[in-house]
Amino acid sequence: MEKGNISVQSENIFLIIKTFLYSDQEVFLRELISNAMDATSKLKTLSVVGDFKGEIGDTTIEVSVDKDAKTITIKDRGIGMTEDEVKKYLNQLAFSSAQEFLEKYKDDSNIIGHFGLGFYSAFMVAAKVEVKTVSYKKGSKGILWVCEGDPEYMIGECDKKDRGTEIILHVGDDDKEYLEESKIQRLLDKYCKFLPVPIKFGTKTETIFEGEGDEKEEKEVTVDNIINNPNPAWKKQPSELTDEDYLSFYNELYPFSAPPMFWIHLNIDYPFDLTGILYFPKLDNTIEVQKNKIKLYSNQVYVTDDIKEIVPEFLTLLHGVIDSPDIPLNVSRSALQSDRNVKKITGYITKKVAEKLGSIYKDNREDYENKWKDLDVFVKYGLLSEEKFYDKAIDFTLLKDTEGKYFTINEYKDLIKENQTDKDGKLVILYANNLDLQYGNVNTAKNAGYNVLELNSVIDSHFIQQLEYKMQELKFARVDADTIDKLIEKDEEVASVLSEKDQEKVEALFKTHVNQVGASVELKSLSPNDMPVMITKPEFMRRMQEMQAAQGMGLGNMPETYNVVINTNHPIIGGKLLKMRSAEKKEKFASYLYNLALVNQGMLKGKDLTDFVSTSIEFMTD
Ligand code: ADP
Repeated sequence: MEKGNISVQSENIFLIIKTFLYSDQEVFLRELISNAMDATSKLKTLSVVGDFKGEIGDTTIEVSVDKDAKTITIKDRGIGMTEDEVKKYLNQLAFSSAQEFLEKYKDDSNIIGHFGLGFYSAFMVAAKVEVKTVSYKKGSKGILWVCEGDPEYMIGECDKKDRGTEIILHVGDDDKEYLEESKIQRLLDKYCKFLPVPIKFGTKTETIFEGEGDEKEEKEVTVDNIINNPNPAWKKQPSELTDEDYLSFYNELYPFSAPPMFWIHLNIDYPFDLTGILYFPKLDNTIEVQKNKIKLYSNQVYVTDDIKEIVPEFLTLLHGVIDSPDIPLNVSRSALQSDRNVKKITGYITKKVAEKLGSIYKDNREDYENKWKDLDVFVKYGLLSEEKFYDKAIDFTLLKDTEGKYFTINEYKDLIKENQTDKDGKLVILYANNLDLQYGNVNTAKNAGYNVLELNSVIDSHFIQQLEYKMQELKFARVDADTIDKLIEKDEEVASVLSEKDQEKVEALFKTHVNQVGASVELKSLSPNDMPVMITKPEFMRRMQEMQAAQGMGLGNMPETYNVVINTNHPIIGGKLLKMRSAEKKEKFASYLYNLALVNQGMLKGKDLTDFVSTSIEFMTD
């Protein structure tokens, strides 16, 4: 045995390795298995070019845990290393690359894949590492390298005979959890599930049937536990795959999940290399719960499922796999966003997603409409966050009216052009976001010959804002934002039947009751067929409040602003209220009419509502 020293500038490197990436300590297994995989593919390449003439044999990589000996072993049948190579690759190259990596990221552990730590990541869990290796070169002897997590190492010969490398990790006392088979199984599932070389982790029993017909016998056999699927769906050609294949792959990725609506198979090798399958889940009207399900791979090695720096945020609502060796992995997350390849890749994915939606829309409008409920949030999120997506998707963004009919934005503009253009030439889009609460207003609008949209998705307030900005001729108004004649203002004005003096009296009567902060009384001469008293919630104020609430500024302590509109032309006002003799009765009746308007908007609750019901009964028995 020969003793040596790894040329160290900082004696602390092992300590840094151990503590630095603590939260991602588990990547050690991926790094070591990646090395084993590289060694295997190098051997295959050498064989192809004729530099290796022996038998390749079974190249399954074996991972095993020995709880008594407290070791984890990763064994490959790759090219192996000679003594000189061990010295060169492990002592110099591997060490300096680990050191370089750590120096670069000492203060920034926010690195996309923690790739680059390589062989020395073994020391994140091992107190001692043994490497036994036999090179593919003729006449190579077994070499043993041992390092106990300090700059000293030992190197010598050993009795290993078969080609390849065994990395034996003597797990430190602090990291005993890694000696649990279940833990290793979980890590293999996470990082190695789709690696291109078979990986064996122990054995398992399988039930097989032997013989024919009546002779058929059930038998238990022990087989290798191969933890990975070396040929995952996204690496195949779309033409090789059926819908069932795509669905079963989805199931493999997310067991027990509801099936997706449809998917896109990404497959490009120029100007960058990218494969993958993106699935559209049924989103319904949700936005948060489903995020961060896309898994990023690099040549089938799992990197991360936190890819918000790589794809535009709205795409993180999708599920599936993206595999690209062109996404730089050993860089910090902030650097990723300005990476040229990453920009191209996101542009490509955005385009593919828009094209897919566009083709479903074109090929089968009915199907697309049926799916809209689950696409709504996704498409609108995309419109809002990606200009390029907006340009494509605005043509197949759907609007649904309160009757359940769907329109594209252009179709809808055509529909309402004639009837819903106001005196300033704006096209007024009326909408409801709660058909129960706004039932009365919707009805009034429909009776006036207007169409009303239902806009109740979680991001509709932003969507409305955006459309008004992009299409200056549009103006959105919620059906309860004003009285119907003001929602879509035409020229004609109705005169009031009440004298100015009477109007003042009416105003004074109501003002004593409308004492809520944020509420004000407004007299209007509307049609006698409109309601006598109405509540309106001015569009602008309401939107401001909604925005503030969305920004977390809280709506809680801000009272809702609304107008109490008195229709001075309604017979109940001029004919009944004003004619009442008793001042007390007048007061009571005005208060009752006001409460009736509140009830109509679902705004009367608790004691106020009970009092209102009592007063109603009183009136009836009067
Ligand atoms: P990297 O893999 O990024 O080059 P590593 O620190 O992981 O850096 O490994 C350094 C070198 O050690 C590798 O480039 C390779 O030559 C050699 N090596 C590591 N693991 C193995 C292995 N299992 N079989 C053969 N060579 C290996």
